[in-house]
Amino acid sequence: MEEATRAPLARYTTIKIGGEADRLCHPQNVDELVTLVHELRRNDQPWYVIGGGSNLLVSSAGVTGTVIRTTQLIAIKTPEPGILEAEAGARLPHLARQAAALGLSGLEFAVGIPGTVGGGVIMNAGAHGSQMSAILETATVLDSHTGEVTVMSNSDLGFQYRRCLLDPSRHVVLSARFKMPTDVPEEIEKRTKHNEDYRWKTQPMGWPNAGSTFKNPQPDKAAGFLLDQAGVKNLKEGQAAVSAIHANFVINLGGATSHEVTTLMRRMQESVHDKFDLDLIPEWKTMGSFTDEELSVWRVKK
Ligand SMILES: Cc1cc2nc3c(=O)[nH]c(=O)nc-3n(C[C@H](O)[C@H](O)[C@H](O)COP(=O)(O)OP(=O)(O)OC[C@H]3O[C@@H](n4cnc5c(N)ncnc54)[C@H](O)[C@@H]3O)c2cc1C
Repeated sequence: MEEATRAPLARYTTIKIGGEADRLCHPQNVDELVTLVHELRRNDQPWYVIGGGSNLLVSSAGVTGTVIRTTQLIAIKTPEPGILEAEAGARLPHLARQAAALGLSGLEFAVGIPGTVGGGVIMNAGAHGSQMSAILETATVLDSHTGEVTVMSNSDLGFQYRRCLLDPSRHVVLSARFKMPTDVPEEIEKRTKHNEDYRWKTQPMGWPNAGSTFKNPQPDKAAGFLLDQAGVKNLKEGQAAVSAIHANFVINLGGATSHEVTTLMRRMQESVHDKFDLDLIPEWKTMGSFTDEELSVWRVKK
């Protein structure tokens, strides 16, 4: 297994923020991943799993323990008609393109989501009116507390808006199986292209970011709209700024720190609270050392 000590994590997050991990491991296959988690757990050592690092704020102060990156686990199979199986580290845009080429519909929404299958399941990633839970049949999951690997059904996973029942500090998604209706590849391509074009028009593609910062507080109230109306576009804290293109995107202007980002996030929350009396909950997960004050951004009432 490839591994490194004192590994800077900024290069593995899409927002390009993150201090050093004590140890960074790249398991080459699912067995290596399972064995590694068993060992770390047996030795009572802290560990974390990341995929694409595209929904993650990693502390600039770094991460104590072992960070396990799944991006070598990329196998994709079609074991029977209408079924796609992918390992945890397979990239969602790649999977979406493979599906389209095979005439399997349902992943058109995922073409612009720069995450992996594992992160996509944990977050119930979605866009353009669909989400992972719409096509996921089962996920194979390691429960680090019991050491068991089980196949969990869609309903076992308890999907909700941008979340499921799995806890990434306990469970590791090893792979997922998708059931997808067939369609003409050209039609799937057309929908995929439409979704891609829409992103280029509405998102800050040139700047490092981690996607939507906050969840929509209600189905009919988009966080981006509320933030825009609250006047946060162009708000800045150090090298972290709110995108002028999409008010729910925080961008790294170059060298931003996690502290600057959490401070900016609090100012965004306050602006929406003052104008609409609504509390925005971050969509992103955190990893590493944060102060209580920084973490208070995640502790708004639900
Ligand atoms: C430009 C851009 C656009 C985006 N657009 C969208 C969008 O339209 N819709 C949307 O929903 N999201 C979007 N995102 C956010 C993000 O891409 C998704 O949430 C994605 O599913 C995260 O996957 P990841 O592999 O990057 O997860 P990471 O960021 O690496 O991790 C996220 C969480 O999942 C956990 N995790 C990762 N892999 C595993 C695993 N195998 N087992 C257990 N836990 C795991 C991590 O510990 C962490 O808690 C966007 C992000 C960017 C940068």
